[in-house]
Amino acid sequence: MRRAIFPGSFDPLTLGHYDIIQRGITLFDELYIAIGINADKKYMFSLEERKKFIEEAFKNEPKIKVVTYKGLTVDFCKEINAGFILRGLRNPGDFEFEKAIAHTNRHLSEIETVFLLTSSGKSYISSSIVRDVIRNGGNYSVLVPDTVIANNKP
Ligand code: ADP
Repeated sequence: MRRAIFPGSFDPLTLGHYDIIQRGITLFDELYIAIGINADKKYMFSLEERKKFIEEAFKNEPKIKVVTYKGLTVDFCKEINAGFILRGLRNPGDFEFEKAIAHTNRHLSEIETVFLLTSSGKSYISSSIVRDVIRNGGNYSVLVPDTVIANNKP
């Protein structure tokens, strides 16, 4: 059984995440979308909202589970018996950042990190840009899955 986790904040889920998840599930038997809880971070969307966006977007995909976790990602992997961490790479900045984390995680555990390159046309999308567009009343429907729009009506 190849079980992987895709960790992140998902504040909110974007079409960039969606693309990596859709392609990631072809590589694994189970993919846990793991929302990390960081008490020091300020989020735009509550944990419940972020979970709902993802659950609804993948409600017809039995290989996907949405979970939340606290603490080190590698500890959570061991807890649920996941051998792989899936991450997306958009640009050289992501690569440098992710490289350091993947090396550290490999030092701390046997868990392998698997990287997928963003599909062309999705690399500019980030949750922080989406939050900025939302804050300023812009049209963010081209940046996120429909479930984010449907569940974010005032
Ligand atoms: P984090 O707080 O860990 O950065 P994010 O929710 O921003 O959490 O991102 C989770 C994962 O999704 C990371 O691996 C990130 O590189 C990837 N990701 C985010 N946006 C995109 C995108 N547009 N294309 C591909 N991967 C992306």
